[in-house]
Amino acid sequence: AEDATHKQAEENLLRSPICCIMGHVDAGKTKLLDFVRGTNVQEGEAGFITQQIGATYFPAENIRERTKELKADAKLKVPGLCDIAILVVDITDGLKPQTIESLKLLKMRNTEFIIALNKVDRLYGWKTCRNAPIVKAMKQQSKDVQNEFNMKLRQIVTQFMEQGLNTELYYKNREMGETFNMVPTSAISGEGIPDLLLLLVQWTQKTMVEKLTFNNKVQCTVLEVKVIEGHGTTIDVVLVNGVIHEGDQIGPIVTTIRALLTPHPMKELRVKGTYLHHKEIKAAQGIKITAQGLEHAIAGTGLYVVGIDDDLEDVKEAAMEDMKSVMSRIDKS
Ligand code: GDP
Repeated sequence: AEDATHKQAEENLLRSPICCIMGHVDAGKTKLLDFVRGTNVQEGEAGFITQQIGATYFPAENIRERTKELKADAKLKVPGLCDIAILVVDITDGLKPQTIESLKLLKMRNTEFIIALNKVDRLYGWKTCRNAPIVKAMKQQSKDVQNEFNMKLRQIVTQFMEQGLNTELYYKNREMGETFNMVPTSAISGEGIPDLLLLLVQWTQKTMVEKLTFNNKVQCTVLEVKVIEGHGTTIDVVLVNGVIHEGDQIGPIVTTIRALLTPHPMKELRVKGTYLHHKEIKAAQGIKITAQGLEHAIAGTGLYVVGIDDDLEDVKEAAMEDMKSVMSRIDKS
């Protein structure tokens, strides 16, 4: 019993990690999320087509269940999943303008990411191997399918190369860290999903447990600035660390948080609908913030919270520096 208490205490020190899914419209971001979580957010979307970042949780039980077949013991040191992104590319389509946009955002923020080469089941003649690890599924395919796969793969590797990025199938990657991992997936029949999840978990645990240890310093990034009926201009942020409260003074646009909102559990921020109000929110969490003056906020910049002991001018200055550096990186790219 003592052991369990100790373990619980340890887990409390870790904040939930966050995984963002990015990529071109129709690459399969929503479907992948749905598949992993066994829910359906796509319906709430009502044909609303945008390139978005879905900030969400992956429940740990889902990961355990889905990685079973790989027989690797995915001991989860971190509750939920990770501070990492999945960049979804439609394998039949290759890189698209929004894929490149997403890449720029990831580079700008130095975010680790894994590339999902989604829709492998659309390769002509693909034999469904429901929820199978990708190597196993690939072995079941005809020579023609394997050839087509290799051809698409080579095209995509070249396209990434043109963006200055080395990529490789994760199970062939000998230079993790320098060469980005790719996982072929199907969000419809589940091939490669166990691989994707296991990779995310392993990667996070290897590199991020320290980073995931909860501390009180607020670390918060603006993902999107948008107008929501009844709320005016709002910002969607990811609170990576710390706690924020209703009424906190925030910058760089100095203003006061009017409301802290989150979607109902298991729904994404981007799905329209009602929100839950909070007095305070502890990291990690995707949050919608309403306040005056948010139309001047810029996606990709950090959000600063003015603490009781902070000098407002210092915070403002730091925020402006961050904004300038984001803007100059956007200009250059
Ligand atoms: P998003 O815009 O990136 O969120 O893309 P969606 O998840 O909405 O997917 C776009 C379309 O592609 C939908 O019709 C999905 O059913 C379909 N789709 C997504 N993933 C797959 C896949 O792995 N295989 C196949 N065949 N279709 C997929």
